[in-house]
This record gives sequence, structure tokens and C-alpha cells, in this order.
Amino acid sequence: MALLTKAPRGTEDTLPSESYKLRFIENALGETAGNFGFREIRTPVFEHTELFMRGVGDTTDVVQKEMYTFNDNGNRSISLRPEGTAGTVRAFLEHGLFNEPLPQKYYYLTSCYRYEKPQAGRLREFHQFGVESLGTGSPAADAEIIALAQQVFDFFGLTDISLEINSIGCPECRKHYHEALLNYFNEKKADLCETCLSRLGRNPMRILDCKSPVCSAIAKDAPVVIDFLCEECEAHFGKVKSYLDAMDIPYTVNPRIVRGLDYYTKTVFEFVSNSIGAQGTVCGGGRYDGLISELGGNPLPACGFGMGIERLTMLLKAQNRELPEDPRPYLYIAPASPEQGPLAMKIVNDLRYEGISALTDLGERSLKAQMKYANKKNAMYTAVLGEDEANKGTVNVKNMDNGNITELPIVDFADNFLRLTMNDAFAEIGAEFPQIGE
Ligand code: ATP
Ligand code: MG
Repeated sequence: MALLTKAPRGTEDTLPSESYKLRFIENALGETAGNFGFREIRTPVFEHTELFMRGVGDTTDVVQKEMYTFNDNGNRSISLRPEGTAGTVRAFLEHGLFNEPLPQKYYYLTSCYRYEKPQAGRLREFHQFGVESLGTGSPAADAEIIALAQQVFDFFGLTDISLEINSIGCPECRKHYHEALLNYFNEKKADLCETCLSRLGRNPMRILDCKSPVCSAIAKDAPVVIDFLCEECEAHFGKVKSYLDAMDIPYTVNPRIVRGLDYYTKTVFEFVSNSIGAQGTVCGGGRYDGLISELGGNPLPACGFGMGIERLTMLLKAQNRELPEDPRPYLYIAPASPEQGPLAMKIVNDLRYEGISALTDLGERSLKAQMKYANKKNAMYTAVLGEDEANKGTVNVKNMDNGNITELPIVDFADNFLRLTMNDAFAEIGAEFPQIGE
């Protein structure tokens, strides 16, 4: 029975008390992306498993250990998306969007799924705000997405987030680097975990982000890729930095960043904060010039990032950033007896057509119970609709903040009520609402 009333481990509900704030955050993210010329893309929650094996890389932790994979009833291997880039690139190729003017710039707000050990800032269902800039190899594009992430943090007034950047080069630089890594790790072979042993031959860089304490201790002293960059990658990295400098975006070069997904080339970056504990990486991304061709397209360079929404929310909480409260309902109108129910319902219905939030009784409750409810809901105005009011054609509307009572005609109630709220709002700031016809 407990299974019925307990959400699966590593998942979270968003209750109404939080969802308004979340919507505000998501709107701000979408708007910021829009200002940078990124347009929203939505892709399926599940894809062919093959897409992630190819796109994310079959030697990564994400694919080897964390993916939700199952066979559907048609015996296809399906996986819930562990990240948003592979699906976005798949859609880009499927719909021939490479024929549109390049770069194509997309953003998304999506759920992602990874079978990880749940802890603060680490969930099995989490959410990402991501952007992808497809079809440009310019260092300006790397800097632009970094600037976007920075602008998001600035919009929310967040501090204590540092930007760390690195370059992990191209396949050309990596040939030499892999050799150096192999030499290094071969000597420590006896201590590596089993997964890393199997990675040694195929993709020694993956050992660098193994989470096992022994492997990560060994990895600490491994050679760093930034020492092996070819001329082009070195120049690219230099230009990214000069764009960041021009925008006054502070960063530090951290040669230890490699990122957990296989598709990265050249620039990689992370925004890290100390405010939210061990899971401090709020945003990670970089350039992935090999991914589009890896997924069967003509080679096109690209870059992007993923920002964890839960970690962003944790940061906002940790730094006491205020988010807007759910707006109060404007009016609660209480039928004094069930006979007035239909008229009360008509009035609130009309108000809602005008975009004014209004509530009325849904339970034939006593006036006292209704007023208690209106108070709990923090209604700005209340009114009681009794037989007398219905006969007279007017109701008394009470401003719950200052106690003022105003008699309003029931005919054209929405218009009259709107005027009243305007008058009160102006009065509150010491101004007068202009009267039409005066
Ligand atoms: P980490 O090192 O924390 O495991 P990652 O390198 O696996 O992160 P990415 O694949 O780059 O993360 O995903 C981008 C962002 O998504 C991360 O920076 C983080 O904010 C968020 N994220 C990743 N995995 C989780 C998770 N399991 N729960 C919550 N947020 C996550
Ligand atoms: Mg991870």
C-alpha cells in the first residue's frame, strides 16, 4: 500500500505552493534565452537507446550506469532522456533544420532521467534548462552561451557562483593526450575500479570523472589535456577568453574540468557554487563539434549547456532570493444561502471572463465557514450576496486590507468591480484614478 502513496525514490512533486515560483523562474529563463535569439524546442521524453549510446557515449557513466532503458511492447530498446542535447540534435537532423540559416539556436526546459544515488541536488528525475547553438564553430558562440548563463544568475541576483573554463581540444590533440594518459594510468592499473579498467583502452579520459574515491584520487595527478592543445584549439580558447574579457565575465581556467559526456570538444565550462553543498555544479556545457556527424549528419560544429533547475532553485533558497508569491484572488463572493448560489456563480464567472480571479462557494457552506475560507485564501475583497442584495440589485464589497466597504450594482458588476480595484490601487500610492467623463 505504501507504494501507492509514495513517489518513487529520487523524484519530487511540485506542489501549488511552489509551482508559481517555478513558473516565474522558467519564464525568466525562456525570456533571457529569447533575448539571446534562442527559440524553444521540445523533444520526446524517450528516444531510441542507440541515440544516447552514440550521442552521449557508451563509455560514460550516464550511459553505462544511469540510464532508464527498457524494451517497449514492440521490442524496441527505448531510454528516457538523460540529457537534452542528443534529442535536440536528432530533431535538428530529422527535420532538416541544417538547411535553415545557421546557427540555429534552441533552448529547452525539460525533465531528465538518471538512475543515480539520490541526495541533495541529485535526483532521478530532474529538470534542465538547456541551450544549443548549432552550426557555428566560432569562439563567439561559446562566449555567447556562457554570457547567457551568467545573465540568468545575474537576473536572479545570485552571487558566489564561479565560472570555470577549460579546453579539452579536438580529436587531433587528444591522440597525444590519450597516449600520455595511458602511460600514466597503466602504472596505476592495479588500483583502478573495474569500469575504469575497461575504459583504459577505449576512452582513458572518462577515468578522469570517475566518482570512485580511489580513481578520482589517482586522476588528480594525471596529465591535463590543456597542455596538449594543437595550435587551432589553443587559438580558439584564447578567443573565447577575449570575448569573456570584453563582456567583463570573470572566470578561472580549471584544467581539471573534462565533463561527463563524450561529445565535448574544445571549450568546456562549469558554473559552480559553494552555497548548495557537494552538488555544486549548477550549469555545465561546452562545444561538441563531433556530435552532429556522430549522429549521421554532415559535420557541423555546435555548442550548448545544461543548467539544473533544482540546483538553481536550491541556490535561490540558499541565498534568500525572493520569488513572487502566488497572486491573491481578487474577490470571494459568498452566497448567504444556497438560493443565491447560481447568481454568485454567474458574477464570478463574468469576472473571470474579464481576467479577474474570483471565487465562490462550492459546498453550500455556512457564511461563517465561507468567510474563514476567503480569509485563508487571502482574498483581497469579499462580498455577501443575500436575498436583500439580490432584490435590491447591489452588493457591499469589502476591501479586506483596509476594511472599507463600497456598494456596487450587480448589473455590469465586473466593470464596476474593476473600477473599484483601480481606485483602491491608486489610493494606496496616494494618487487618484482618472474618472472617465470628467
Ligand atoms: P554532476 O557532476 O553533478 O553529476 P553532470 O556532469 O552529470 O553533473 P550534466 O550532464 O552536465 O551534469 O548536466 C547539466 C546539469 O544538470 C548539471 O550541472 C546539474 O546542474 C544538473 N544535473 C545533472 N544531473 C543531475 C541530477 N541527477 N539531479 C539534479 N540535477 C542534475
Ligand atoms: Mg552526473
